[in-house]
Amino acid sequence: MIVCKFGGTSVGDAEAIARTASIIGARRERKPVVVVSALAGATNALLAIAEQSARGQLIGALAAIESLRERHLEQSQLLLAADQAVADDICAELSAMFDELAMLADALNTLGDLTPRSLDAIASLGEQMSSVLIVAAFKLRGLPAVHVDARHVVITDDAFTRAEPQPDAIAEATQRLVVPILRDGHIPVMGGYIGSAKSNTLGRGGSDYSASLVGAALQADAIEIWTDVDGMLTADPRVVQGSQLIERIAFDEASELASFGAKVLHPNTIAPAVTKGIPVWILNSRRPEGTGTLITFDAPRRPVTAIAGKSGVSLVKVRSARMLLTEGFMRRLFGVFERHKTSVDVVATSEVSVSVTIDDPSRLDALMVDLREHGDVTVERNRGIVSVVGTGLADGGKAMACALTAIGDIQVHMLSLSASGINLTVVVDGEQVIPAMQRLHAAFFGDSATCI
Ligand code: ADP
Ligand code: ASP
Ligand code: MG
Repeated sequence: MIVCKFGGTSVGDAEAIARTASIIGARRERKPVVVVSALAGATNALLAIAEQSARGQLIGALAAIESLRERHLEQSQLLLAADQAVADDICAELSAMFDELAMLADALNTLGDLTPRSLDAIASLGEQMSSVLIVAAFKLRGLPAVHVDARHVVITDDAFTRAEPQPDAIAEATQRLVVPILRDGHIPVMGGYIGSAKSNTLGRGGSDYSASLVGAALQADAIEIWTDVDGMLTADPRVVQGSQLIERIAFDEASELASFGAKVLHPNTIAPAVTKGIPVWILNSRRPEGTGTLITFDAPRRPVTAIAGKSGVSLVKVRSARMLLTEGFMRRLFGVFERHKTSVDVVATSEVSVSVTIDDPSRLDALMVDLREHGDVTVERNRGIVSVVGTGLADGGKAMACALTAIGDIQVHMLSLSASGINLTVVVDGEQVIPAMQRLHAAFFGDSATCI
């Protein structure tokens, strides 16, 4: 059995959903379980509606709800045109969800306060809607699809906007609710991104994570992530021209790239697959005949496999003369980040200072108050990180020196080589992320590459 996850662009409109149906049709023998995202852009639209409502701009929010409703109903009519009764039923079901959305918007407008819980209640509607529509579209195309409510399967804690999955409970729920559908020869279809506590979510891009959690629970033969690019490339094609397909990549390389900006994969996707040794494929739903990328244990060892980068990072520096030779200083310092549920990406230390980068600045002010108990704290916002990733990076060749040379005159604020030796990361100004990625890519993968 396999798990096939389709991202937003792969289910963005009637044509894309029809393509998805034929991809699944070609995989019937392999017993697919399907995990779907919201229609492309729907989650962004829903989050904007939530924010608008809480800001008191109810009229604008209601207009946005109507336009999203219209899009869903129009695509449903197109997809389900072969059976008007089914089309009417699905449109009524979707419309009821939009009515619920309008009520939520109204309540937020009255309260004037946007909590993580209400954000999730609204954001999770995207996948609830798309999954209902996709089941009906599959059925009309002869695929025996059965809707599975992700809220009963992807069991999480009760945190909002980044729920923590509970793998044992997911395994139990999957055996109880998904396996019997497969056993009957049917195709389970569920929304990604959604958790079990009052429609909480796994965080942005979390449908990939849903797919790997369900894949691990089922001990699937493969997890397929269907998206809008040919696979994992040597860099984000939106940033770097001439990025190339990586046909095989190691789990730990893919995981590092995802964590350091390669949005093609949610950073948590790899862990559940690794624990069960399940290969992960990244495939292009517009070109299903392509080879895609295979993420596996057994990949070629290269000095540099790919470049990733992201902006919007904050660099936090703590200096303390007291740190010198003090036992437990690091534990106390990282305890502060833990208490504020803020995860740290890159770390560098000297005898008297510790620098860390964080992605999520939402608790930064409170964090600084607590950090000041341990030393002088400075924060540099609007930084970015750029990572060069390869299992053979630290093998003693010239790759590392060459990478630093390629960055040239771009100012580096911090530098870190991961303990595993596969990730060299530099912190640069936010606006230098793209130029740094382009220079590094040209040096390692360009037509006149100097670093190979
Ligand atoms: P989906 O909606 O299918 O989940 P995403 O937008 O989340 O799709 O991820 C796909 C996008 O990831 C691509 O369109 C591409 O711009 C971006 N991306 C970033 N880094 C990479 C990379 N190294 N290889 C491929 N795509 C990448
Ligand atoms: N729809 C969600 C998002 O846009 C989850 C996903 O697509 O993976 O973040
Ligand atoms: Mg995605």
